[in-house]
Amino acid sequence: MAWLKSIKSKIVVFAITATLIPSLGLGLLSFRQNEAQISDNVTLELRALTSYANREMELWIDKRVHEVHVTSTSSAVIDGLSAVEPRGTDESGKDPRALAHYLRSVQEKLDTILELTIVNAAGQVVASSAETPAIVTLPDDWPQSSLTEGLVVVPAHWNKQYATATVSIAIPVLSYDNILMGALVAVLDLRTLQPDLKSAAKSPPGEVLLLDPEGRTLVSSHADADELMQLDASSLQRLLAQPGKSLAFDGLTHQEVIGLADVSTELGITILAERDHAAVYGTWIELRNMFLALVSALVLVMTAVAFQMGRSIVVPLQRLIRAADRIASGDLEVRLSATRHDELGHLTQVFDQMADRLRRSHADIMAANEAMQQQNQVLETLSITDSLTGLHNRSKLDAILNDELARFKRTQRQFALLMLDIDHFKTLNDTYGHVVGDEILAAVARILLQSIRSIDYAARYGGDEFIIILVETSAELALNTAERIRSQIENMRYSVSDSTITVTVSIGVVQCQSDDITPTAVFTRADDALYEAKRAGRNQAYRAP
Ligand code: GH3
Ligand code: MG
Repeated sequence: MAWLKSIKSKIVVFAITATLIPSLGLGLLSFRQNEAQISDNVTLELRALTSYANREMELWIDKRVHEVHVTSTSSAVIDGLSAVEPRGTDESGKDPRALAHYLRSVQEKLDTILELTIVNAAGQVVASSAETPAIVTLPDDWPQSSLTEGLVVVPAHWNKQYATATVSIAIPVLSYDNILMGALVAVLDLRTLQPDLKSAAKSPPGEVLLLDPEGRTLVSSHADADELMQLDASSLQRLLAQPGKSLAFDGLTHQEVIGLADVSTELGITILAERDHAAVYGTWIELRNMFLALVSALVLVMTAVAFQMGRSIVVPLQRLIRAADRIASGDLEVRLSATRHDELGHLTQVFDQMADRLRRSHADIMAANEAMQQQNQVLETLSITDSLTGLHNRSKLDAILNDELARFKRTQRQFALLMLDIDHFKTLNDTYGHVVGDEILAAVARILLQSIRSIDYAARYGGDEFIIILVETSAELALNTAERIRSQIENMRYSVSDSTITVTVSIGVVQCQSDDITPTAVFTRADDALYEAKRAGRNQAYRAP
């Protein structure tokens, strides 16, 4: 869940959740309620439809019963049957053809009746309107039940002979003295019920099907019955298990339907009222799909907006973080331009001002640092330089000599040291004054600097005394250099007002020795050599043995 740590993804997740939960929750709740309402309405409509169909069926059968009853009480039937079926066993029956003729004439007038057959009390066919009467099996107790009920109904079924769905009714035929002589059996064409069912199924809309106990279609309100159309057993079972309750199932044409069943036990017919599922829920499904598409679009838009919003916060923040990182790593040349006018724009502006101030402070510090370094350098130079002559001063001389002694110990490379002292300088001072004395000191220093190599050192030892260190130089060569310096100074002419001053120096020359541990030891030997040069008459160089 590392991706959830960024501000951007948090905003996106929040936006999606805040959009999805209320819209989906409320929307689906209202759709669920609508669905329940539609389902209730459909159930009510289908119930109304089955009850209309039931009523139509009862009216239809009552009318047929009435027609057959009228025929069964006609004198033609009673007389015909009594003539064909004499009471006495010894009398032979009359020709039944007249009776059959009568029956045919009645049947032809009533188009709902396919066949009229008269059976005797024993159930044997006596006469029929049909050439080959349909085999109608009456229940064993038909004589009793027909007398008590007034009729016997043979449940509806598919009649192969007439290739239609039929229901048969048997009305008892009684003699004039009310003795059961037989029954008038009418085979009724159930399809003639179709127009009535069709008009019943107009309002509320739907389809009414009359099914036999196996689920085969006997009559359909909207189509001609087809023997092959049969509702699958499980759907039929479910419908019959919950009569009056609407269920969704695969209809006869394999389309999903919502149906409800009612059973007419007398006729052995299941009345199935159904409506196309798509017709009932079509608008609802369309609306639901539209709603889901709308929610998806809304989520997409909200995601895009949240993403953009997150970006608008995170991108400048990342820019600020990168800039802060650069400053933290020492790069002060960071300039951000604030283009926004919100809090982040203000923050960027403040950041920029802060960076600018840092840059200026840094520049000031750098300048102060440089000035200080320069001053330090000046101070350092001053601290090691003799102000009058510009040569190294005494303390620097000590440091140089210490270094040279250490180097000598390390590398055994020799160095030589000359100690010079101006002859009778006190007299010069006294004669021409201190200022002239100072100028002569400076002039001598210049000659010393000109006379040595760049690797050598020249320093003022104090008063009118100077020291020269000749690096990697033997005593002989050092004596030569001392002689050269002495001669150059001797030849120097210094003019003061009318007179020309000549200066001489005495020089003590020593070479470093392995027992020279401190500068003082070297200076002492040099001083001794200088003393010898002075003692020998001045203006000369003396090399210590
Ligand atoms: P010697 O030949 O024996 O060296 O004789 P000297 O007169 O030179 O004697 P010494 O070296 O002892 O005298 C050094 C004199 O240098 C003493 C002092 O007045 C003078 N002196 C020391 N420092 C300065 C300075 O900075 N400027 C001037 N003008 N004179 C100085
Ligand atoms: Mg002197």
